[in-house]
Amino acid sequence: MTMKKVVIIGSGIAGATVALYLEGQADVTIICKGKRQDSNSMLAQGGVAAVMPASCVQKGQELDSDQEACHVADTLSAGVFHNQIKAVEKMVHEGPQVIQDLIDRGMIFDRTADGRLDLGLEGAHTHKRILHAGGDQTGCQLTSFVHEQLAKVKWLPYSFALDFVLEGGQVHGVSYLDAANQRQTIVADEVVLASGGIGHLFQDTSNHATITGDGLAMALRAGCELSDMAFLQFHPSLLDGGEKVHPILISEAVRGAGARLVDEQDRRIMVGRSSKLDLAPRDVVSRVVNEEIQAGHQIYLDISDVANFSQQFPSIADYLRQNDLDFETSQRIPIKPGMHFLMGGVKTDFSGRTGLDHLYAVGEVAFTGVHGANRLASNSLLEGLSFAKSVAEAILSDTEMSSASHQELQVAPSTMEMFLPSRAELVKQTSDALGIVRRPETIRQFLTWLATFNYQRLDQTCTDRQQIETANLCLVAETIANAALTRTESLGAHYLLSEE
Ligand SMILES: Cc1cc2nc3c(=O)[nH]c(=O)nc-3n(C[C@H](O)[C@H](O)[C@H](O)COP(=O)(O)OP(=O)(O)OC[C@H]3O[C@@H](n4cnc5c(N)ncnc54)[C@H](O)[C@@H]3O)c2cc1C
Repeated sequence: MTMKKVVIIGSGIAGATVALYLEGQADVTIICKGKRQDSNSMLAQGGVAAVMPASCVQKGQELDSDQEACHVADTLSAGVFHNQIKAVEKMVHEGPQVIQDLIDRGMIFDRTADGRLDLGLEGAHTHKRILHAGGDQTGCQLTSFVHEQLAKVKWLPYSFALDFVLEGGQVHGVSYLDAANQRQTIVADEVVLASGGIGHLFQDTSNHATITGDGLAMALRAGCELSDMAFLQFHPSLLDGGEKVHPILISEAVRGAGARLVDEQDRRIMVGRSSKLDLAPRDVVSRVVNEEIQAGHQIYLDISDVANFSQQFPSIADYLRQNDLDFETSQRIPIKPGMHFLMGGVKTDFSGRTGLDHLYAVGEVAFTGVHGANRLASNSLLEGLSFAKSVAEAILSDTEMSSASHQELQVAPSTMEMFLPSRAELVKQTSDALGIVRRPETIRQFLTWLATFNYQRLDQTCTDRQQIETANLCLVAETIANAALTRTESLGAHYLLSEE
């Protein structure tokens, strides 16, 4: 029997895990915009949240009182109960089984001296349940481990997916720019969109440079439904090392390990703002940090109570040293908030099926409803792992093959010329209109400004990747702005200041 031809767009944890569960059972190609290592997944520091099954607990390890129900409750509470409960239950129940499977295949998570999983704590979690690897290198170690398992996958690195090939309302493949920047099409029985979020729509972001909302724009142009696009997560603590230093993330696990948010006078800024203090949900902490910075304060993470900072967070410590930013003497790290994660995305069912036949979506690009109005820390890797397995199972069980011929498909050339703002102007305008605090009037002005440009369809003759990214970002920004205007009350990460 011929194997299904599956094309996966994106090499992060979601796309790679789909490939893992298809290994040897489907003919899989992964298209990725840069190197296979270029993804947000590789940057993940804190870890993956999971209530591990009793079977994985080491002999002699006492069972913590943590249970799946507690993880579900924490996820719903952080998400302000806007989450889809069934999706949360599925992720919390099935995610640990995928993690156990990876451990059985040889994935190494950090353990205590007596062999127990060394579980960490992060904001809005009521229990220590964060598995981590290499201290703060969880994403890199986990994603690399999954990549190493993919012996049969064909890789198309430096290949930029442009649009889906559509025929009769079905997806039959993908058009893309290859490594030599030539336009190509690849035919597939099933396409899996795993292209991540939208970080570079904003001036300050924790995201990898390849994360520019391309997959969301492809889905919009193909007519897919997107949901909850008003909900963007801004992380409270990106490094604020001055203009010349890239603002890497200072993981929430640092606060979980005892760091506190203070101003230049050592005033603890979370006191009186949340009963959970520095470990309040991210939307709450980001708003407070933003407010303090707007009021003229410099905000720091005071790490004086974090034991062995350099051993616990080796990548962060190395980065600070490389950039001559003292933390060892001052015991402080300057921080600012920045765009981190998209809670909304392409609407899918629990198996990743979108509204278009033969198109699946998974990971940050997908909307499964697990995150609600604000994602709980370390639930994103868990979502990627658990839903990726379901996507692979659905692909293998859906017996209907695509009707496309496996000859080269032609994409009808569009003669539409694009007229775009500069990237710098776009991210400035977006940051002003759609940031941590939003005003309806500013959003309306932003939409009026966007309407002066032409970005709805890609010019099929354009091979300038920067331009294509900018067009994609404009389309996604318009969708977010409209979603934000429709939502007239503040909820979670969508925080509105009412008009005077
Ligand atoms: C700094 C940082 C730290 C984080 N820490 C944690 C953490 O500790 N725990 C946690 O749970 N979550 C964390 N997150 C969030 C989490 O890492 C991401 O949400 C998750 O990894 C997303 O996985 P993904 O596979 O969906 O997308 P990604 O890992 O972002 O992968 C997307 C892939 O698609 C590719 N791509 C994009 N556009 C195109 C295109 N047009 N053509 C071809 N390829 C394309 C990208 O290059 C990339 O390979 C963190 C995020 C960041 C940025």
